Amino acid sequence: MRLRNDLKIYDPPKNYRRVGEKRMESKLRLKQKIRRNALVVDDEEINRMILGNILENDYEITYAADGREALDILNDKKNDISIVLLDILMPRVNGFEVIKEMRADPILNHIPIIVLTSEKQSEIKSLNLGASDFIPKPYDSPEVIKARVNRLVELAEDRRIISDVERDQLTGLYNQGFFLEYADFLIKYKENEARDAVWINIDHFHLINEIYGRDFGDEVLKTLADTLKVFVSIHNGIASRKSADDFLLFLDSIPDYAELEALLKEKVVNRFPDHNLHIRTGIYNTHLKSIDLVTAFGRAKVACDSLRGNFQKALGYFDDKLQKELLLDERLIHDIHKGLEQKQFIAYFQPKMGVDKDIPYIAGAEALVRLNHPDLGLVPPSVYVDLYEKNGLIQFVDREIWRQAASQIKKWKDEYGITIPISVNASRIDLYDPKIDEHFFDLVKEYDLKPKDLHIEVTETAYAEDANQLIEAVTKLKECGFVIELDDFGTGYSALNMLLEIPIDVLKLDMKFVSSMYDSDKNIQLIKIILDIANMLNVPVVAEGVETEKQMEDLKNLGCRIIQGYYFSKPVAAKEFEHLIKAQKE
Ligand code: C2E
Ligand code: MG
Ligand code: MG
Repeated sequence: MRLRNDLKIYDPPKNYRRVGEKRMESKLRLKQKIRRNALVVDDEEINRMILGNILENDYEITYAADGREALDILNDKKNDISIVLLDILMPRVNGFEVIKEMRADPILNHIPIIVLTSEKQSEIKSLNLGASDFIPKPYDSPEVIKARVNRLVELAEDRRIISDVERDQLTGLYNQGFFLEYADFLIKYKENEARDAVWINIDHFHLINEIYGRDFGDEVLKTLADTLKVFVSIHNGIASRKSADDFLLFLDSIPDYAELEALLKEKVVNRFPDHNLHIRTGIYNTHLKSIDLVTAFGRAKVACDSLRGNFQKALGYFDDKLQKELLLDERLIHDIHKGLEQKQFIAYFQPKMGVDKDIPYIAGAEALVRLNHPDLGLVPPSVYVDLYEKNGLIQFVDREIWRQAASQIKKWKDEYGITIPISVNASRIDLYDPKIDEHFFDLVKEYDLKPKDLHIEVTETAYAEDANQLIEAVTKLKECGFVIELDDFGTGYSALNMLLEIPIDVLKLDMKFVSSMYDSDKNIQLIKIILDIANMLNVPVVAEGVETEKQMEDLKNLGCRIIQGYYFSKPVAAKEFEHLIKAQKE
């Protein structure tokens, strides 16, 4: 389901309509006799006059008496001349030279040339050089000449229109609609050929655009496109820019893409040595499988996506493992609503322990979702949170977990007489809901809680994605009195100044700081700096992923007052969490 939505590939009719309409326009213009320019080149005045007479009703005519004069006029009016009628034997610069020069020029190359000649040999030679047609001398039938000229002008205009519509302006590659049409054509042309569908993307391209500017981004895209053009031309393939930084290739199947990897490295990555480009290539081999193109490219995309953020790897093949993951993804998407109805999504709770007193105490808890699936067993969030985010389904799960968390605070309050603040995770997608504050407010009201009892964890990566959105949502929630915790701090691309911009209450130091704290002295120093800054801003820090006593003691000595991690407890079901509460009460 996700793939198809992502892809939205099959949409060529619109383009066809555009081509069709424009073609009609071009025909109409000819019929309406909007006057185009014809250049008649002949050293004999009598010939110039005869042709002029034949064409003057339909064309504005410019005359040249030899090749040199003709080229001067052409270079002067590159875009205004619709057709050239060209004599071959002329003084100074002859007709062959003119054809050669015109065909070497990117703009003049599109102008059709009719050669005026009386001998067979020159006809052949000029056609080989790139002339479009010839008219034999002496001129006998004016109607035939007119018809030939008109037909060539029309063809050239059609060609230009088609190439405008079927190609991406920036890179000159096929746009998606035409690409798929042509790919389909290739399949029908040689049905049992093995081919590869390839999906190429640049990691974090939006950041490249943001940091180095659009012009630079365009330069990268053009360089990439040029390299892909070379590659597909060697392998009987075609290439397309699907959108932004997504490129598609369809080509004869090749056993190993190391060649493409090397080419991209040499021509693109190394060309921008300071920018650390990571170009990902996902490959799906359609070898003798009758699979439709949308599915084939969907799979190539899955292979490409599997490399996201993995800077060690640039090539990924769609294989059985990915196939299994894909099926699991589809299953999880399919089952979500039933799962919600049947209460399969359950909040587990992990304590956040205060360590600033002699005996550690429960300072709060984090609610973490678990899916208790009838066939798959207990599934951790790492399997589906990203998937549901991408598919716009995470809100349903989040709201369920928020509700369970709120209800749990109330239950423990009633049962044990203490309020344990629980933090819930809010996906960056939740933050786009303009009524998120009302939703939380209604929730705490329903369970007779205070907003400060419910903490909301927002993830740091949301800041890199849309800082304003995050700041706006957080500000609204804070105004209602909710406590905001910044989750996964240190994993994103944001700088420390983010801490000044977002009005957060608690900072959660990402697990990776703790797990690597003894790798080098620098790592401990970094933790110390973050703790100092947070201290200066008066923001308490929760260290996540603390697994050993030594980590706990060292963090405590560095000034960290709240610890979350397996050292104290894994996330557990509510019933089990109650043992901790009871133990503390005793
Ligand atoms: P998170 O919010 O950063 O949660 C902390 C994760 O670290 C949890 O993984 C927790 O089980 C794990 N953890 C805690 N202590 C330790 C430790 O000492 N060692 C190790 N190795 N791991 C530890 P979990 O529960 O698998 O959740 C993973 C992520 O999934 C969460 O990271 C959060 O981003 C997301 N998530 C969990 N529940 C929800 C939810 O209800 N909604 C949303 N949107 N995301 C959720
Ligand atoms: Mg969290
Ligand atoms: Mg975290």
